[in-house]
Amino acid sequence: MTCCHFIRFSNRKCCASCSFIQANIFYQNLGEDLGRYADKKLRERGVEIRSKTRVGGVTRREVQLNDGTQLTSFTLIWTAGASPNPTIDLLDCPKERGRLKVNQFLSVETRPGVWAVGDCALVPDLTTGQFCPPTAQHAVREGKVLAHNILAEIRGTTKKPFKFKTLGQLASIGRRTGVAQILGLKFSGFLAWFLWRGIYWSKLPRMERKCASRSTGCSIFYLQKTSRSLFRSALR
Ligand SMILES: Cc1cc2nc3c(=O)[nH]c(=O)nc-3n(C[C@H](O)[C@H](O)[C@H](O)COP(=O)(O)OP(=O)(O)OC[C@H]3O[C@@H](n4cnc5c(N)ncnc54)[C@H](O)[C@@H]3O)c2cc1C
Repeated sequence: MTCCHFIRFSNRKCCASCSFIQANIFYQNLGEDLGRYADKKLRERGVEIRSKTRVGGVTRREVQLNDGTQLTSFTLIWTAGASPNPTIDLLDCPKERGRLKVNQFLSVETRPGVWAVGDCALVPDLTTGQFCPPTAQHAVREGKVLAHNILAEIRGTTKKPFKFKTLGQLASIGRRTGVAQILGLKFSGFLAWFLWRGIYWSKLPRMERKCASRSTGCSIFYLQKTSRSLFRSALR
């Protein structure tokens, strides 16, 4: 999200340029069609995209890439995914990729009374046979199942297995365009961007935060103007 806000300003009229460094294939999670759409749109806007490239080091004026390239840059926006909290390393429990291995009931099998959810847990995905991705849509649902299961353990009743199929993925690519895959349907352009903004806004807790947020319905039309002028003033 942070990156898309930056990308929004990266155009020929503005003095900033933007390079997008991605360790995998660009937008691999969204599938080929949407990935190609996003790639094309961003390139049209002057964004340089480097796929299958990693950032190896950063200095005050340079970003060093693992292919030996050095990019002059004064601003690095790091949006690489979540990694488990290092506190997990201290626990003597089975782990994989730094995450605590739990069963479908979200408990660590070899450690009765130890439970884990969210980014620190490696939860089996009963719908795919793989593991659940570390996303908020999984974490909040795991939390509910966990609460049920802890009570069930105390009361001696039946525990619920965690079973949830990823609803979809949304990404904004700036300037009121986005890409979205929801329940198997793919969208791109303004509709995808509108869904992205609307869904994230609806997830904000409490009404006053929703109202205070610039993501409210009214600001959809004004936000970009406001933030663009702020960005330009900052560059002056
Ligand atoms: C840049 C970025 C973009 C993302 N975008 C999306 C997205 O679009 N959609 C989506 O579904 N998911 C997204 N995610 C993933 C999502 O944020 C996480 O999967 C989700 O927040 C995990 O929830 P959690 O409760 O496990 O961890 P967190 O939400 O990280 O909560 C952990 C809490 O524990 C606290 N904590 C840490 N250490 C300690 C300690 N030692 N003692 C006490 N408290 C501690 C932290 O302060 C924090 O409040 C994104 C993640 C990142 C980094």
